[in-house]
Amino acid sequence: MNILTFDIEEWYIEKVFNGGRQSKFAEFDHYLDDILNMLDECSLKATFFVVGKMATEFPGVVRLINQRGHEIGCHSNVHTWLNKMSREEAMDDTRQAIDALEQCLGHKIKSYRAPAFSIGENNKWAFEILSECGIIYDSSVFPAYRDFGGFPNFGNQVPTIIIAGDKKIKEFPITMARVLGKCVAYSGGGYFRFFPLWFVKKEMKISPYSMCYFHIGDLLPETNGVMSKKDYEDYFKEEGNLINRYKRYIKSNFGKKGAWDKLKKLVQTCDFVNLEMADKSIDWIKCPQKIL
Ligand SMILES: [Zn+2]
Repeated sequence: MNILTFDIEEWYIEKVFNGGRQSKFAEFDHYLDDILNMLDECSLKATFFVVGKMATEFPGVVRLINQRGHEIGCHSNVHTWLNKMSREEAMDDTRQAIDALEQCLGHKIKSYRAPAFSIGENNKWAFEILSECGIIYDSSVFPAYRDFGGFPNFGNQVPTIIIAGDKKIKEFPITMARVLGKCVAYSGGGYFRFFPLWFVKKEMKISPYSMCYFHIGDLLPETNGVMSKKDYEDYFKEEGNLINRYKRYIKSNFGKKGAWDKLKKLVQTCDFVNLEMADKSIDWIKCPQKIL
């Protein structure tokens, strides 16, 4: 089973960090249209994890995705990493985001993904918060080390029932490949841009389950500049020294040129479902449970 997901925050981030250039909004609209048309052509439905602020500031974008038949999930309120928040702040952020999305769409939000997969060992209480806010499925677990997040000792790379306190949540973790003895992601973000398509497809074929994830920013052909120290620190909430900023510059730009065509080829040649559809076809009784 392959699951297709997109994380949506670009319009809001553009407004906050660059003042909202019309040319950038038009570019994001254009790429979103291309994605929606591509999914229609392949008769595929995806899950789009959207930040709450998109629902209040760019409601037309959120409604458009939903009207085209795709599931809308929550991607936090303002795209701040959950592991940079206290429990109270995370609760407020999640509540505000879900309220905004539900008011925009008029129906319940069931799915969630933390920005930068920022739920791990140190803030696993976040699953209780998600459940209290009505979330049923989560896809925030990145079961390896990564910048800004990761949950290396989570263990499972298949759909798993998480038991956190007296709450349960259905977890769809990111899938990993073994490369030179190391556990690495391959099916989304910079990892998808890095690995050749044949490798991604080979891994998807041998894995009983694959979770693919993309941001529109992963697919835009032009490269981003090096962030200023202030922008880096405002956005990543850590010291914006030269090494950190250049590391991010390289990671966020590697392989961007061919990324859109690569995604198109992947979507045209593999079957995908969204989280809601995957949930219905999974026999959760047979899935592993993880007590946190
Ligand atoms: Zn994101």
